[in-house]
Amino acid sequence: MAESECIFCRIVNGDIPCARVYEDDAVLAFLDLGPMARGHTLVVPRKHCESLLDFPAEEAPALISALQKVGSAVMRAVGAQGFHVLQNNFPAAGQTVFHLHWHVIPRTEGDGMALWPQGSYREGEMAELAAAVAARM
Ligand code: 5GP
Ligand code: ZN
Repeated sequence: MAESECIFCRIVNGDIPCARVYEDDAVLAFLDLGPMARGHTLVVPRKHCESLLDFPAEEAPALISALQKVGSAVMRAVGAQGFHVLQNNFPAAGQTVFHLHWHVIPRTEGDGMALWPQGSYREGEMAELAAAVAARM
């Protein structure tokens, strides 16, 4: 997709308004217009890339620093006691905007949000699977 058609590039460039909460040289952070919880914020690298797989690793420290600032401020602003940092890669994982971004989602005790269903492995399956992943590094 051309960057001129990318909705988050357009927000970063100021062509489309956003409810900005933080910015620095590396990132812009603004409220998600379809919040999973009040204060749900998107942390978006200024430079266009589509998924985590094409994010330059040397930019990770600036990104982590921004996530810490945003997570802390959002939590305090909405009176939450915790927050998630989520990041979707590719449509199968729910990615709908193909400009890399991190979701910061505040959580409040007893808010009832359930997003962590857990399964289990049959005996021996964990070791097999771990070996299969390790072989692909
Ligand atoms: P994804 O599913 O790609 O991880 O998340 C995309 C997120 O971007 C969604 O939560 C959606 O609500 C949000 N979003 C999409 N378009 C806009 C927009 O124009 N402005 C804002 N503030 N959020 C957007
Ligand atoms: Zn973009």
